Amino acid sequence: MELIASFSVDHTKIVPGIFTSRVDTLGDYKVTTYDIRMTKPNTEPAVDVAAMHTLEHIIATFLRNEPDWKDQIVYWGPMGCLTGCYLIMKGDRTPKEIHDLVLRAYKSVADADEVPGSEPVNCGNNLMHNLPMAKWYAARFAKYLEENADNEAIFVYPKSERLVTDDGRQFFDS
Ligand SMILES: [Zn+2]
Repeated sequence: MELIASFSVDHTKIVPGIFTSRVDTLGDYKVTTYDIRMTKPNTEPAVDVAAMHTLEHIIATFLRNEPDWKDQIVYWGPMGCLTGCYLIMKGDRTPKEIHDLVLRAYKSVADADEVPGSEPVNCGNNLMHNLPMAKWYAARFAKYLEENADNEAIFVYPKSERLVTDDGRQFFDS
């Protein structure tokens, strides 16, 4: 079985931040998948699952209503490992170019007084939400993004040796 692209990033060296996971070409268009990493993998506790579910709802709602950016958003959702989220956007902007958007998205969580779309008709697990915890994680990550706005390390995956298979083939980071 081939190792898929995102698994070849050295997760032991990733710090929280905004990274380009992969850029795909679809016909005449480019689509970029960003790794919005909220916690340091395998080092600190991952995000609480109910809080992450709430962040998914609130930030998706923010991104899909943001006047200047909503037409650029393809997808927003949590990673299975609960250490961050994937944001898929049209185009191939650098992570730095979406720093302000991501920062405002996380800051918007503080203003939420309910979880949008959390009725049974809209959500597959509508009891699994935690708004106070979501606010805590969002505030912590927003503060980190603000304090590290000029820190290149939050925009570029840490360099790591490429994986080479027994027969000499290389796996490439996305
Ligand atoms: Zn849901």
